[in-house]
Amino acid sequence: MNIHEYQAKALLKSYGAPVAEGVAIFSADEAEAAAKALPGPLYVVKSQIHAGGRGKGKFKELSPDAKGGVRLAFSIDEAKAHAKDMLGNTLVTAQTGPAGKQVNRLYIEDGADIERELYLSLLVDRSVGQVAFVVSTEGGMDIEAVAHDTPEKIVNVAINPEAGVTAADLAKLTSALKLEGEAKADAEKLFPILYKAFVEKDMSLLEINPLIVMKNGRVRVLDAKVSFDGNALFRHDDIKALRDETEEDAKEIEASKWDLAYVALDGNIGCMVNGAGLAMATMDIIKLYGKEPANFCDVGGGAGKEKVAAAFKIITADPKVEGILVNIFGGIMKCDVIAEGVVAAVQEVGLKVPLVVRLEGTNVELGKKILNESGLAITAADDLDDAAKKIVAAING
Ligand code: GDP
Ligand code: MG
Repeated sequence: MNIHEYQAKALLKSYGAPVAEGVAIFSADEAEAAAKALPGPLYVVKSQIHAGGRGKGKFKELSPDAKGGVRLAFSIDEAKAHAKDMLGNTLVTAQTGPAGKQVNRLYIEDGADIERELYLSLLVDRSVGQVAFVVSTEGGMDIEAVAHDTPEKIVNVAINPEAGVTAADLAKLTSALKLEGEAKADAEKLFPILYKAFVEKDMSLLEINPLIVMKNGRVRVLDAKVSFDGNALFRHDDIKALRDETEEDAKEIEASKWDLAYVALDGNIGCMVNGAGLAMATMDIIKLYGKEPANFCDVGGGAGKEKVAAAFKIITADPKVEGILVNIFGGIMKCDVIAEGVVAAVQEVGLKVPLVVRLEGTNVELGKKILNESGLAITAADDLDDAAKKIVAAING
């Protein structure tokens, strides 16, 4: 789950990280009061969307030479004008895709005088099984480009979970970032704070691009992008409350309400499966026969009929889906429950595309009987290979 920059900054501030004062607003009428609450004379008006590259982004509705989604303002009136210009419009950045994202919230922040822009992120480095800092002196720009063109400018420091951020780690980080004096002291305080927040809140990514050194020699978090591990959200009600559903795929929200693992993909075969391994195998075999999955929805082990029906509805709601493959190996999950769920969903929403069902395992005979007696146009398959061939043939007509 992702959150907005202003929410991430509030969270980091609660841990003691240095961030600017700022006010989030939802309508242009609020811009004046927001700016007046800040010291000035420099204000930054920042579009809040779940995507980076806002500064260089373009608004669909505005002229191509209009400013981007992060704008400096040198007076309260200018801040107001920017707010009016941006709110409600669609910002297209390198990360939003061509459709862009509608800007429904702005963050008006006290502007900083920047001396240097640095890059810092924290992530889970699976190759070493540790949380790692990734830092670079080349902040403020596209870090993928830095990684590609000048990989030596990116430094990785993995943190031993038992020791936490050690003095040796801090020395490596501050030296990689060429920090000195007060900036170095600020960073030595900040980095353990970021690590603590990352671990305590079960983040999967914390990216600060840029982390800045200001003209006054102090360090500040200027941008913040945070993703949380969805599997740990159950223990963070405070984080769950920050969810902005307008930023998310409607089908993924519906799936998460049912505790279903749903992943949207680019092809045209919808897949309902149980278990991650079977999901991978199903996608592989669809590709083997020359098609691509449109999505997969993993109903897991202990689903009831309602949950199966919800999964089926989510899959069929995707307009890209030209055919559906249900591939279930009943272990804990019973085949008759799957069959009942599928039949209930089809009775409710109809079946406009071919449906191939492969059931195996617990109560398989009962499951097949329910499908056969349903009177629905369902093609039964004997095994995985047969199922993939049949759904591909059905789509190819
Ligand atoms: P992003 O484009 O989505 O990554 O948004 P950022 O928050 O990183 O802002 C983009 C750029 O705007 C930064 O790299 C800075 O160059 C500039 N910027 C943002 N805030 C300030 C500020 O307080 N003062 C100044 N001078 N520039 C800023
Ligand atoms: Mg940025």
